[in-house]
Amino acid sequence: MSPPPRTVVPDRHSMIIAGRAVPAWSGEWLTTYDPSTGEPLAEVPRGAAADVDAAVTSAHQAYRAPEWSRRKPHERARALARLGRLLLDDVDQLAMLETLDSGKPISQGKRDVELAARYFEYYAGICDKIEGSHLPLDAEHMAVTTKEPYGVVGVIVPWNAPLNQAARAAAPALTVGNAVVLKPAEETPLTAVRLGKLALEAGLPPGILNVVTGLGEEAGQALVEHPLVRRISFTGSVETGRLVAKTAADRIVPVGLELGGKSANIIFPDADMDAVAASVLRTMTHNAGQICSAATRLLVHADALDDVLDRIATALAKVTVGPGMRDPMLGPLISQTQLDRVLGYIDIGTQEGAATVTGGSRYTDDDLVRGYFVQPTVFTDVSPNMRIANEEIFGPVVCVLPFTTDDEALEIANGTDYGLAAGVYTRDIGRALALSRRLEAGQVFINEYQAGGVETPFGGYKHSGWGREKGLAAIDHYSQLKTTIIRL
Ligand code: NAD
Repeated sequence: MSPPPRTVVPDRHSMIIAGRAVPAWSGEWLTTYDPSTGEPLAEVPRGAAADVDAAVTSAHQAYRAPEWSRRKPHERARALARLGRLLLDDVDQLAMLETLDSGKPISQGKRDVELAARYFEYYAGICDKIEGSHLPLDAEHMAVTTKEPYGVVGVIVPWNAPLNQAARAAAPALTVGNAVVLKPAEETPLTAVRLGKLALEAGLPPGILNVVTGLGEEAGQALVEHPLVRRISFTGSVETGRLVAKTAADRIVPVGLELGGKSANIIFPDADMDAVAASVLRTMTHNAGQICSAATRLLVHADALDDVLDRIATALAKVTVGPGMRDPMLGPLISQTQLDRVLGYIDIGTQEGAATVTGGSRYTDDDLVRGYFVQPTVFTDVSPNMRIANEEIFGPVVCVLPFTTDDEALEIANGTDYGLAAGVYTRDIGRALALSRRLEAGQVFINEYQAGGVETPFGGYKHSGWGREKGLAAIDHYSQLKTTIIRL
């Protein structure tokens, strides 16, 4: 195999506090690793409580300063639009950093950067359109509502789409006029730090977008606990989300939770089976299956089961695998921990009596064995009560569950604690819409799983979260409503 293209990544990437690139107060550094090889990639500061305090204090001051608080909405819009433009201009470098840091294939890394830019473009267009309302009272009174920022918003994101998720929260928060302190995941901090630098270039005042790198239980927790943080946006696992929500509850601070999923995709015999096969292939290969809303439970009508399994096997036979910089269809998982988790679930599934029709282990080829590569794995003979059918695996693993009636499909689809997304594939649009009404999921895709974009609100039912990111819904999320009543 030919060597991957040459890449240049600086050894150390300082974090961004108060407009300056700084090390941690402790002087300690954390190493990030390339998941394709397991080798060290770069170092970032091990930020902790003192660094979070510096970042939040600077954000608080910058939020109150006239350069931000008195800046006209259209001027805020221009800075955010410029940031979107700078992200696009920097797409090659950012995508390379994202790919080396997260393992995702470079074309997926590029798409993630473009999507991050779209968040800034989209929300820039909204800055000067955040309107309130006038409420009818009586001849002597007038009442109006206004949407106001909270102040400092703490944003904590995971490693699976680092830049994209940072932009998803930061762009609407800044649009409303908040200041942001961003804490990227310890595995993938590099693009977040670069976002902080580009924000300064775009004209955001120093302190308005700070980036503190560090461990979750140190920097992340300190951010959630900081008394000047007035709102929290958390994306990550249910376990950590629960901890964050408890701390936020003690502080009476609102928190948005974007958590995990175990989404169901319901396939009827009249579906476009080419589209179904393409969708399953994407579920298993995109980001190596490490997508919160991935349709990891494939509910297939018994009459279509053989056809669907044949088509999936044909599609998976063409999957190319390799380091992200070679742009294969399937890259590695993020870490040894994640590799152990996914292989552990494959063992659990086998012990529970499910059968693997394809995959079932890691890749052991010479050029892949040092990285965290797992074969796309399809389980059949899965029953809804198995652990593999209920727990989030977060890798290229799909469970196939047959059904015969719409009610049975719904019972299985709604039968987990999660409720992030769901899909229905059928040419009978009435049936699809009737199912959509009864599916317990924040997004339902009909005949194209993962359609939509920055415009479409996203978030979970049940344990998949609280609140909505994306679209105009996020503006309400990052603003608080004030009612002013005037005696005339
Ligand atoms: P995680 O919960 O372990 O970590 C997420 C972030 O929280 C990281 O930045 C981490 O440093 C930080 N953190 C850890 N402990 C903390 C603490 N005590 N206080 C504050 N912050 C802390 O999640 P992960 O393993 O990085 O990410 C995978 C999970 O994220 C999956 O469950 C996936 O489904 C979910 N996810 C959800 C969405 C969504 O939009 N709903 C998107 C992507 C990923």
